[in-house]
Amino acid sequence: MTINVISLCSDLIKCKSVTPADDGALEQISSFLRSIGFETTILTFSSPDSSNSIKNLFAKYGSSGKRTLGFLGHTDVTPPGDNWEVDPFAALPKDGFLIGRGAIDMKGGISAFCCAVQQFVRQKFDGSIEFFITGDEEVGSPEGTLSLLEWMVDNEYTPHDCLVGEPSSDKVLGDRIFLGHRGSMNVSVKSNGKQGHSAYPENYRNSLADLCRYIVKMLNYEWKHEDKRFPPTNLEPTLLFTNNYATNVVPDKSSANLNIRFGGDYNSDSIKQILLKEAKAFEIYLDFNVSGESYYCCNKELKVLLSEAIRETANIDPTFSAAGGTSDGRHMARHCNVIEFGPLDATMHQKNERIKIADLQKLEKIYLAFLKKYFA
Ligand SMILES: [Zn+2]
Repeated sequence: MTINVISLCSDLIKCKSVTPADDGALEQISSFLRSIGFETTILTFSSPDSSNSIKNLFAKYGSSGKRTLGFLGHTDVTPPGDNWEVDPFAALPKDGFLIGRGAIDMKGGISAFCCAVQQFVRQKFDGSIEFFITGDEEVGSPEGTLSLLEWMVDNEYTPHDCLVGEPSSDKVLGDRIFLGHRGSMNVSVKSNGKQGHSAYPENYRNSLADLCRYIVKMLNYEWKHEDKRFPPTNLEPTLLFTNNYATNVVPDKSSANLNIRFGGDYNSDSIKQILLKEAKAFEIYLDFNVSGESYYCCNKELKVLLSEAIRETANIDPTFSAAGGTSDGRHMARHCNVIEFGPLDATMHQKNERIKIADLQKLEKIYLAFLKKYFA
């Protein structure tokens, strides 16, 4: 029996798999893959300092043969929030779209690749296909990709190449392939001053003013941009806070959060040094949390095969980019070649997240064309 991509994607969206919940999503994929001949293993990982147990799926088809293609994805989704026009977990088709949390990020890509593989394995081919589907990508992947890749290495399941099915297309399906992403770091900035009456500047030190001056200084910082593979480095304040609601009191404590995206000209250490150096003139303290370093993987063969598959199926020439947010491709790229391609990213993490049904079907065709070329 052939399962079609729309019903598989709908069934996955109906699982309320907001991290760390799974709600049956991985078992759906696992039983689908078993039905087409894969061997599947559900792996549960938990760290000693966390109460979360995260389910992950590894599946393999074929003998090792000439080459192994991996597919990396995640079934966990971000909380839907309020005010959707439809139930975010009902997977309702509307106006040619399938609407629901995870439709784009990334149950659509997973469904399309599963259905492409379903067709592809009907023919004989030399090689094997592996699925790495994880359950905590949206919170940094400690018990997902990171643990699963350790297990992969221990068990010698490392593929030669890996396709990541995260959203990558920009305006039209097929117009963009990601070869990497910038690194990301969060910085918590705390400013200490001395409280006082705002009419008496000689008696206080305004923590908020200090903090604002520092933020403005960093917003105007001239980051170098020599590594043109990546978009420019950018720094964004994401929170400004002070526990003071009086209009004539100067606050003694204020804080802010900054998020910084950086390309190949920097790494998290060099960014930290710059932020610390620029902070010396102020009474402020910085605390760093690195989400990930930048990565870039440019395997010529993967680029050519995937571009050809897109061109033949969607009649469009993709561009190559390292924009967008971090993905777990950066972890996989330490072990094998990685390329990222999937649906339009416009509604990811938004309310009324949606995928065009025609795109879902076309994505399956592109993935199938890519599989045929890869194992040719
Ligand atoms: Zn994602």
